[in-house]
Amino acid sequence: MMNDEIPDLNAFDDASLNAAFAVLEKSARDAAAGLGGEADVEAFRLKWLGRKQGRLNEVSSRWLKSAPVEARKALGIRFNALKAVVDGLLEAGLGSGPSNAALAAEAIDITLPGTQRLTGAEHPISRTLNEITRVFAALGYSVGVGPEVETDYYNFECMNFPPGHPARDTQDTLVVAEQERKPLRDRLLLRTHTSPVQMRTMESVAPPVRIVIPGKVHRNDAADATHSPIFHQVEGLCVDTNITFSDLKGTLDHAMKALFGSSVKTRFFPSFFPFTEPSADVQISCIFCGGKGCRKCKNSGWIELLGCGMVDPAVFAFAQEKQPLYDPKRISGFAFGMGVERIAMMKYGISEIGSFYAGDMRFLGQFV
Ligand SMILES: [Zn+2]
Repeated sequence: MMNDEIPDLNAFDDASLNAAFAVLEKSARDAAAGLGGEADVEAFRLKWLGRKQGRLNEVSSRWLKSAPVEARKALGIRFNALKAVVDGLLEAGLGSGPSNAALAAEAIDITLPGTQRLTGAEHPISRTLNEITRVFAALGYSVGVGPEVETDYYNFECMNFPPGHPARDTQDTLVVAEQERKPLRDRLLLRTHTSPVQMRTMESVAPPVRIVIPGKVHRNDAADATHSPIFHQVEGLCVDTNITFSDLKGTLDHAMKALFGSSVKTRFFPSFFPFTEPSADVQISCIFCGGKGCRKCKNSGWIELLGCGMVDPAVFAFAQEKQPLYDPKRISGFAFGMGVERIAMMKYGISEIGSFYAGDMRFLGQFV
């Protein structure tokens, strides 16, 4: 590169001016050709257009001021032409974008393996709940839903748990605070079973009714290996003319075979639930030993799995208050309920109910 100093100009004829400006222009073009990144462009701008030490400023102060009056116009024209060239070079430099080095540093290596994202999967509780629902959907049942915060009336009274009845004590209930001023039936609580949806459905739909009610329920139970204060239930309700206990047995026997395999047997034992009469507990033949007897079935060969019964006429009487067609003299029905966690624990061989809620990916990853 030539000396960066601006030489003195001794002659002001056209040829001398042309030669002097040609040298400067070439110098500017040479400098601009090597511009890389933003820093280079800025350095070029400072060197040529800087207010104090820029070369154009120097040309202006040394050549224009020392020029004889008659040469000033010719010099000014060439000076403006040179400035236009420098401006143009600067603009081109700014528009040229980042340098090759900068681009290389940001380059994406398309041969690298992609970012692997975790695939979502159904939680084992949701999966079991959906499986149970599908079994009944195939029998023509639809899905009923209702609120988790319920009134005492829907959770207890209309399900034939009268105020003060000892059956209420079997479901240790979490109640909403500061409800004492309301009449008992209007007080709010966290539903202890999905049964309230049976009544809500009958109140809004005339018979026949076939629904399953999957959902979350709450009880004030201490957590241990098999109990949790929050768990899931699927209840079912079937109401029509001439529904008998045989229909109940046939339906549940089919459902258990669909869930656990066609070799599973069922048997029914007398039991008590306030909202059904007669009531029964259902046992299935042990799915681990096939009924021979093992540790899981306490050597009995049977596992107790769900509760059921024929809908109590007293429950229909509550439904009749809003839907007169639920006349217990003309219709009949059955209801059943099962715990989703219990079935999921059996199906997947899980011994701690808390594993479902802990959110441990090592546990959940097994169900992907
Ligand atoms: Zn067994």
